[in-house]
Amino acid sequence: MSKTISIFILSFLCLCTSARQRVILITIDGLRNDILTNVSQPAPFLHELMLKSIYVPNVIGVNPTMTYPAHTTLVTGSAPLDHGIHCNRQFQFNRAESALYNWYADSIRTKTLWQTVKEKGGTTASVFWPVTTGCKWIDINLPEYFPTTRVNVSGMDYIRPVCTPADIMAELEREATGHLSDTTLRAGSFQYDAKVASMVNYLTNRYKPDFMTVHLVTTDYKQHETGIYSFETQQSVAAADHAIGLILENLEYTHQKDSVTIIVTGDHGFTQGKYRLHPNALLVSNGLLSEQPDGNWQACFNSLGAAAYMYVNPKLSSKQKIRCIEKVRKILSEQPDSVKSLYNILSNKEIIDIKGDPTAALCLAPVSGVGCSNERKGEFKTDFKGGFHGYVYLPGTKAYDPTSLIIYGNIDRNLVKRFISAPDTIQQTSIAPMILSIMEIENDNQQSK
Ligand SMILES: [Zn+2]
Repeated sequence: MSKTISIFILSFLCLCTSARQRVILITIDGLRNDILTNVSQPAPFLHELMLKSIYVPNVIGVNPTMTYPAHTTLVTGSAPLDHGIHCNRQFQFNRAESALYNWYADSIRTKTLWQTVKEKGGTTASVFWPVTTGCKWIDINLPEYFPTTRVNVSGMDYIRPVCTPADIMAELEREATGHLSDTTLRAGSFQYDAKVASMVNYLTNRYKPDFMTVHLVTTDYKQHETGIYSFETQQSVAAADHAIGLILENLEYTHQKDSVTIIVTGDHGFTQGKYRLHPNALLVSNGLLSEQPDGNWQACFNSLGAAAYMYVNPKLSSKQKIRCIEKVRKILSEQPDSVKSLYNILSNKEIIDIKGDPTAALCLAPVSGVGCSNERKGEFKTDFKGGFHGYVYLPGTKAYDPTSLIIYGNIDRNLVKRFISAPDTIQQTSIAPMILSIMEIENDNQQSK
């Protein structure tokens, strides 16, 4: 029996034996909360959906407010300190390839919703969700996986072999999207979000997965490149909104509206950039880091978008490490007041307290509108016109880049209310247990996998 047929039969059996709500969890990457509250934003489907839904204006994100850590929190309910995904790209200790993407699901240390749903006899699907490559708990999986150098490499050739079941991309092209190419499925394009919606609708109608995760990413690209107020960003909001509209319309036309709960959220929000800091350039000019990778080094920063973690060379002695950290603190504290006012410095203990990366020696934590790069040459501070997310927050401080949450389905509001910590606020870590509650699945996600 082919895997495709067996998935179909399993999903049919599940539906016969359970009246549980199916859930589609959709992230709009970088969904700022003002996109929802400002009616002049080009998002009529989202604006109408808010009115009909349970709407939570503020989602308190994890540290850092970055795509891969946040997406992993959404499907585990745990913070980066526990699930182990601290950045989109893992620090590589001053190697030429300075960081590798966290593509693979086996990097996640805590139990995912896909695993819990599968263990309870449900079926799962995922469309371009981060950190899912090779995930054995997702029946139909199109992972986020792309060539990091785009020169002479086809993204489609890259992704086809990692999709499961093996023939699913061909089936989607045949039945849903038409032939896909690097033009029609180009990450960061408006077409991309529409193609994702076509895939989601086909999978929803054909396989009826009990739990499906979906990542709409175009809004992230445009906000990074052009800032949060640009026409391009507005167009990307319209593209994501259109994709949501296509998914809602399909549920309506196929009479699945009452059996499927749609959850829409961002992984983080965005801020308008003003300045960019280049802390590795400071380390180079102070003799703590080689200008080229693979040279001698004592310390090296890895950018999280806005904030940056600093790592010290593990080959240093304990005394050398302490001296190195003190030297970096001194360098950062001796900057002019106009520069120093742009950031805070967090110690390793403070990083652990906010459930960040316990292996980082320091964190350069910028204020709103300021981000960090990995650049090793040039000035410490330069102007910047794009957008930033990837901040870290000390407890009790207000987030610069909050996102929001919409829950639309035929569900008891009281099921959701107990996960909301204040009238208008939910922790991002509470969304996974809330989904299990909606699906009437016992929450054992606190266990390790
Ligand atoms: Zn993101």
